[in-house]
Amino acid sequence: MSSSSTPSESIKQSGSDDNGSHKEAMQAVQKEMRDKVKAANDKRGVLIYLFGNGKGKSSSAFGTLMRSVGHGQQTAVVQFIKGNWKTGEEVYFNQETLIKHDAMKSGFTWDTQDKNADKLMAQETWAQAEKHLSDPALNLVVIDELTYMFDYDYLSLTECLKAIQSRPAHQSVIITGRSRIEPIVEIADTVSEVVEHKHAFNEGVKAQPGIEF
Ligand code: ATP
Ligand code: MG
Repeated sequence: MSSSSTPSESIKQSGSDDNGSHKEAMQAVQKEMRDKVKAANDKRGVLIYLFGNGKGKSSSAFGTLMRSVGHGQQTAVVQFIKGNWKTGEEVYFNQETLIKHDAMKSGFTWDTQDKNADKLMAQETWAQAEKHLSDPALNLVVIDELTYMFDYDYLSLTECLKAIQSRPAHQSVIITGRSRIEPIVEIADTVSEVVEHKHAFNEGVKAQPGIEF
């Protein structure tokens, strides 16, 4: 297997009709995977950045949060945008003792139209995030929809990044938001772009509880 091909590409390349050559290819995959696992022995928290216009960023972050909670770890979620709908995730987070949850009080939207009030609310919300980023009891902190705060100049990127980089070494952080912000890409350990190919909303399908919020 070349270092750039994935196990499934190697399986396809192996010509799996022939059991002998399949076994040989799988042994090569197994060796490469074992070598990679052996080489990856740095144990520390990671910064994950999920951006892009496609659907799946926040829900991916919450899926990771669920994993963490499944292992009995303490976590926190700070949401920078909250519309008028009560989201399913908020109801769920509030039932879970291992998840601390904060959201912008009324949620900034194009409806508030008050920059000073929005900025103040953004700063209050960031104060919660900052508190979590210095709490060694937390294994994972999700900062949802953070990038809007930089797009609108409500928060200082430099100060936010400083707090993220000063967090406890074992703590992981997930940042979500539509925009690609270069300094975040630079300091993040894992960066994924969610690209929109289709979205039901564009076909006139109404946002649904349990799917969209
Ligand atoms: P999700 O919370 O479902 O993982 P997301 O975090 O990737 O979505 P956001 O950019 O935060 O997406 O948008 C929030 C809401 O907008 C979600 O309800 C989502 O379904 C919806 N949405 C996401 N992408 C699109 C799109 N391309 N067109 C219309 N609505 C979208
Ligand atoms: Mg989102």
